[in-house]
Amino acid sequence: MADEPILKVAVSVPLSREFDYLPVRAAAMPSPGSRVLVPFGRRRRIGIVTGQSKASDFPAAKLRRCLEVVDDEPLLSAADLRLIRFTSGYYHHPIGEVMAAALPALLRQGKALAATRTCIAVTAAGEAADVDALTRRAPRQAELICLLRDAGGNGIDTDALTEEQPNWRRAARPLFEKGLITRFEISARPRAKALELSVQPGPELNPAQQQAVNAIREQTGFAAFLLDGVTGSGKTEVYLRVMADVIAAGRQVLILVPEIGLTPQLVSRLRNRLGIDPAVLHSGLTDVERLVAWRAARDGTAQLVVGTRSAVFTPMPELGLVIVDEEHDQSLKQQEGLRYSARDLAIVRAKHRDIAVILGSATPTLESLQHCRDGDYQHLLLPERAGAAQPPSIRLVDLSRVPCTDGLSEPLLAAIAAQLDTGGQVLMFLNRRGFAPTLICGSCGHIAECRRCDSRMTVHARDRSLRCHHCGASRALEEHCDECGAAVRPLGEGTERLEETLRLRFPDSRIKRIDSDTTQQKGAIAAALAEAEQGGADILVGTQMLSKGHHFPKLSLVGIVNADQGLFGTDFRASERLAQSIVQVAGRAGRENRRGEVVIQTAFPSHPFWRCLLEGGYRQLADAALAEREQSRWPPFSRLALIRSAAHRQADAHALLDIAKRHLLAQPSDELRVLGPVDAPMARRAGRYRAQLLLQSSSRKPLHAALAAVRSALENDPAARKARWSIDVDPIELF
Ligand code: ADP
Ligand code: ZN
Repeated sequence: MADEPILKVAVSVPLSREFDYLPVRAAAMPSPGSRVLVPFGRRRRIGIVTGQSKASDFPAAKLRRCLEVVDDEPLLSAADLRLIRFTSGYYHHPIGEVMAAALPALLRQGKALAATRTCIAVTAAGEAADVDALTRRAPRQAELICLLRDAGGNGIDTDALTEEQPNWRRAARPLFEKGLITRFEISARPRAKALELSVQPGPELNPAQQQAVNAIREQTGFAAFLLDGVTGSGKTEVYLRVMADVIAAGRQVLILVPEIGLTPQLVSRLRNRLGIDPAVLHSGLTDVERLVAWRAARDGTAQLVVGTRSAVFTPMPELGLVIVDEEHDQSLKQQEGLRYSARDLAIVRAKHRDIAVILGSATPTLESLQHCRDGDYQHLLLPERAGAAQPPSIRLVDLSRVPCTDGLSEPLLAAIAAQLDTGGQVLMFLNRRGFAPTLICGSCGHIAECRRCDSRMTVHARDRSLRCHHCGASRALEEHCDECGAAVRPLGEGTERLEETLRLRFPDSRIKRIDSDTTQQKGAIAAALAEAEQGGADILVGTQMLSKGHHFPKLSLVGIVNADQGLFGTDFRASERLAQSIVQVAGRAGRENRRGEVVIQTAFPSHPFWRCLLEGGYRQLADAALAEREQSRWPPFSRLALIRSAAHRQADAHALLDIAKRHLLAQPSDELRVLGPVDAPMARRAGRYRAQLLLQSSSRKPLHAALAAVRSALENDPAARKARWSIDVDPIELF
């Protein structure tokens, strides 16, 4: 026993170490990347073998033994493990939890890689049962039996069943007990063989596109490219040409996109142009769908994988190219748990594999622009719209001079009317859902607030509720003030109100609102966007969701209803964000033959931000912002990390950060600054008090050394158990 090897196993628990186990007796040694079932405390858990060692720091008598090896061959390759290890180290996050983030749910639960569908079917006893009698006593059970009888011996898989009868599980329980129905696992349908799709030829590239393609083709080995092209400049065409080369060489391509909403358009374009069916990975899939796509990527049958953020971890043995579309988009950074940036990990992954990575955007992050200046990335420019399309004209409406009713000024209304009269399509952008952001008492001025957060309740008119957009709390909308009993009224506007106002003004137009309230059902976003794209609405009203990467051929006017929130933001990224969101949404206008028009309402038309944007566009704003950042030493001219804490008592949240700060100051460094602790911008959220400590450093090394030290101190200090804490490396939201 003394010379038995020790298995290092990552288990998904919030501790930064791996755990030592003895191998299963008389079983083959599992290779790194294989799953094992291990005893953990009083429970059993699925872990992943990360390596072996000869000895353990743990007393031999206390070592426990793996119970079972789940996989015959490793699920994750050495390259996959390397990326996971990097992620765990860079983000100071427990490796077991990083592994869990990298695996589909079914594999995390220990399901086999191959067998994946659970089916329910009637038994012989169920076929013979007296359904009429059951209908009287238990109609739901009877309904379920009938459904399963109709399906025959193969039964129905649980996903399909959930669609047919969402609450079937309750009805099923007594039927299982009586032996009338049964459950079994079958292997998921193999992926449909590559369809013989006809390939459509693309347009001839313009010189700027050709130059970009050539630059990428010339490179061998690792190289990062920033494809910086105005909206509609044909970035996707560049991706397509380069992808076609890589796929023809028998290698795989990974494309990361910020939103599920973007995938259908892109997927159909890829299918038409490359003649292959990409594997798609995003949060809208069922567990089985996700596993099937993941498996196709892992075994190399999927030549092309399109996915959101977490797809960056998808195993792809023949990976030859990584593309990150809309690289500026904030949804590429996960904002809870493992707070990773999929863009940054895409670059690391390309470096590990010695292949090219392309970051594309019309509004690149200042970080990426600075990487180009430093020579780390090659800057590829597409300065003009492709084909015949012209850049949109942009003008401001001064809200301090012209009257405005329910959020819409006369000049904007006139522009809408003119477009509608001439067959144009209009998009009204307002980054605030609901009817109104505030409910105020007309007499005492009392404002309805969330009981669990330091925030106001948003008025939602359709279901007459007040909702907190931070914690999800909701209550009925009352007509009278809690405090004085006088009448209350909604103040300000959200998309719901905007839609209502537009309906009154333009009763003959087809108006469609697209925001997260109208697209909650599965597939609803895709359906709404497809309808909008085909011209199924004259006026679109929406939030950020509508601004990203979509191509609405007929869209000719974009109205930005309220841009002023971003002008005075306290975060050092506020103006970068505002510029990105305006340029992106403006870029939806006039993408084909008709020239686009953009109208922006602002109460501060002389703010320097506007002059900069109107005169020099995003490029000039970005240059100015980079100069400011350099002056004030904000990223990309320094590195940041936040330690966040949350507790039921405010003092506990702060006390934890005081402990962290003490550890940091114990090893002083010239390069490291520690700011705080301070309350988070919204100090109380969902009933917890939140505070934060900001670490700023001129280079990466001292920051990471400090984080590693703090983390192990906090993990081992019993006084740190009174608050929840987390580390956010390269945070994108500060204040
Ligand atoms: P981006 O990804 O930069 O927003 P797209 O690749 O979607 O731009 O291109 C915008 C539109 O211009 C699409 O309809 C596309 O088919 C068209 N397009 C792209 N490149 C060319 C080209 N070289 N000639 C003509 N049309 C083009
Ligand atoms: Zn709340």
